[in-house]
Parts: sequence; structure tokens; C-alpha cells
Amino acid sequence: MSYYLVGEYLEDAVVALVRFLVIKRLAGNSSTLMVVKEYFVDGVSPSSISYKYRVSKFRVRGYIQRVIEKTRNSYLASLIIKQVFPLILEIEPAVIKVNEKYVCLLCDQSFESEVTAENHLRRKHEEHISKTVKEVLESIKELPASK
Ligand SMILES: [Zn+2]
Repeated sequence: MSYYLVGEYLEDAVVALVRFLVIKRLAGNSSTLMVVKEYFVDGVSPSSISYKYRVSKFRVRGYIQRVIEKTRNSYLASLIIKQVFPLILEIEPAVIKVNEKYVCLLCDQSFESEVTAENHLRRKHEEHISKTVKEVLESIKELPASK
């Protein structure tokens, strides 16, 4: 990684945000990813996003808040997400929805909800998560701030 702006704070923010997005992608949680992308990359308002994806405004704001907590800066979050989003979409999800079940492709267990599947990934497949986060970070050639 060759960072234009080297700083522990910036690096921590990038890692935390990439990890958040990687887990959502691995868990097959496309709605959170799309909400985050539309707000931070496309500049769509929370109410339009809420209407488009039929997610409550409360949840949309919750996702946005969780992203901002990672960077403590909305502008920085946008810069990072713009750069990493295409890489995130290249990751193979580890959980797929089959009828009403969420199946973990890494160990074949199935779960009742998206939330339990995601918690399962965090608990049982940390190695897979870290490996994927590392791969995304290595693909970032330079910090988004340099654009
Ligand atoms: Zn599993």
C-alpha cells in the first residue's frame, strides 16, 4: 500500500470501514451496502433511499451513523467508500439466502436471519474476514484523499 496521507488515524479509519463493508458483503447484506453507497457515493438523501429500498428512514440513518462512527468524518467516509466499493462488490458472499434460510457457504450451517448469519461469520470465520479485509486493503493503491 502506498498511502499519500500516512497517519495512524487515517489508516485505522480505512481499516475499520473496509472491515465493516467486507462483513456486510460476506454476509450477503446487499441492502446495507446499497444504502451506504447511495448516501456516501451518489449523495442520495436518506428519505429517497428509504423509499427506493423500502428500508425505514430510521434504519437508513442508523447505517449512515455506523459508517460515520468508523471515520468520525462524513467526507472522509465518502472518499474511502468511493474507492473501495467496486472492490467490495468483487468479493464472493459467504452467506446466501435460500428460500427463507441464510446458508453459510464456508461450513454449510443455516440460519434463520441475516443478523444471526452475520454474527456467525464474526464468531466462526474471523480468519476468512481478516484475509478478505487484507486483500481489499492491498488492492488500494493510494488513499482516496489523493484524488
Ligand atoms: Zn459458517
